[in-house]
Amino acid sequence: MLPGGPATAGEQALKRAVVVGSGAGGAIAARELAGAFSVSVLEAGREFQPFHGDIGRIERLRSTRLFLEPRMIQLMFPAMKVTRVSEHMVLVHALATGGTTALATANALRCDEALLQRGIDLGNEFAALSTEVPISTEHESRWRPVTRELFSTCEALGLNPALTPKMVDYARCTQCGRCVLGCRSGAKWDSRVFLRQAVGRGAQLLTQTKVERVALEETVIGGHAAQRATGVVVRQRGRRRFLPAELVVLAAGGLGTPAILDRSGIRTEDRLFVDPVLCVAARVDTGRTDQEVPMPFFVEGCDYIISPYFDYLSFLFNPAWRHPRHDITALMIKLADSQAGTVDRHGVRKGLSARDKQTLATAADVCREIFKRFGVRPESTFLGTLNAGHPGGTLPLTGAEPAPLHPDRLPVNVYVADASLLPQSLGKPPILTIMALARRVAAECRAKLA
Ligand SMILES: Cc1cc2nc3c(=O)[nH]c(=O)nc-3n(C[C@H](O)[C@H](O)[C@H](O)COP(=O)(O)OP(=O)(O)OC[C@H]3O[C@@H](n4cnc5c(N)ncnc54)[C@H](O)[C@@H]3O)c2cc1C
Ligand code: SF4
Repeated sequence: MLPGGPATAGEQALKRAVVVGSGAGGAIAARELAGAFSVSVLEAGREFQPFHGDIGRIERLRSTRLFLEPRMIQLMFPAMKVTRVSEHMVLVHALATGGTTALATANALRCDEALLQRGIDLGNEFAALSTEVPISTEHESRWRPVTRELFSTCEALGLNPALTPKMVDYARCTQCGRCVLGCRSGAKWDSRVFLRQAVGRGAQLLTQTKVERVALEETVIGGHAAQRATGVVVRQRGRRRFLPAELVVLAAGGLGTPAILDRSGIRTEDRLFVDPVLCVAARVDTGRTDQEVPMPFFVEGCDYIISPYFDYLSFLFNPAWRHPRHDITALMIKLADSQAGTVDRHGVRKGLSARDKQTLATAADVCREIFKRFGVRPESTFLGTLNAGHPGGTLPLTGAEPAPLHPDRLPVNVYVADASLLPQSLGKPPILTIMALARRVAAECRAKLA
């Protein structure tokens, strides 16, 4: 049933909920709400399609003018959206079913220290997820020699490398190394699994439906003036529509949700983090790390991690990377950046603080040291394009919210279930933590509003 359309006898008893976005937070929130509400998932993008192009052919075209600007990737791969926030940094996210989880390298880490410090214990949610999502480190037995050698080098340097847990069914993984371009074999888990389960429980999925704003009305609760959502205003194939709902759950991601809230008259905090990524690369002939498990292990430093990673954005668009793809070996630095940045209806403003730049420089030195021990001259290393794909933090939870997981600037029946709620940058993969958080948010909605 479309929101606003005629309800069936069974649905008449249920309140209507819209879940905005079908990524890490949205898909699980929709699944947990389906059955208790009549749920519609509103997704701005289309059905996700992995990139099917021939990388070998594209490699030969890299010197043409088509490959000057990372934003052009959308012409080849429509699900991936790249936004330039400064001359030196681009943001990457997905606009399709499954959200950015469909572009992920499937790392599954529990990163809830900051939430625990605020008294938010998601232990039960993580335990439930561990039974539903296939997480393993089985990839270790498949590593290429160069990865084994890098791991030993990190051990020899006392860097304590750890295997990365992955959401992958390794019986089906072809080790193509193209996780960030979408998995063509279906081996990689992404949140479309939860989305299908939500639909199986009766949720309605509306793709190409972009939410512009939440429609609000004034009301009185407990003698106090308050705001309440009456539904959402969407743009659907060029037409604007109002979809009524008694519950609105925003899970449009760290960039989408604050923009919707701003268009609804609700300001979020200027605390955007993005976890910037910078690769330090070297030419290692026939290392073939483009066909390796991405991020197979990681080393943890102060506010950063380092992990082997073939960076497709740099390979395609950065002139310093014009080497044969089988000959590039790269170490990614993922930074836990300062919480300083703005998202509103006009766009994103985000830069690096002096501390961020210093941390990146320190981590780059560690990468060069690893390469040196590995047998590469540090002067011959080259840098990648600074890109970031973990936006969040503009509606940070404090643990002191009057209602659990419900920031007090939100109207009574509007919840957020995505990375916007994270109190601080993780500098680590956030999907598992966002899913645990969204699951709890859905439980709160069921308890309060169903
Ligand atoms: C290349 C890459 C690799 C990554 N690898 C990993 C990894 O291995 N492990 C990990 O933990 N994390 C990884 N991440 C990060 C992770 O994917 C994201 O942090 C996570 O998916 C964010 O979840 P979310 O629910 O906040 O937003 P998203 O998953 O981005 O979902 C937001 C959804 O909302 C939709 N949307 C946006 N605006 C609107 C609107 N106005 N109306 C309707 N719908 C809208 C979008 O289309 C999208 O479906 C990676 C990120 C990138 C870019
Ligand atoms: S490496 Fe494995 S999980 Fe990643 S895209 Fe290829 S087949 Fe899928």
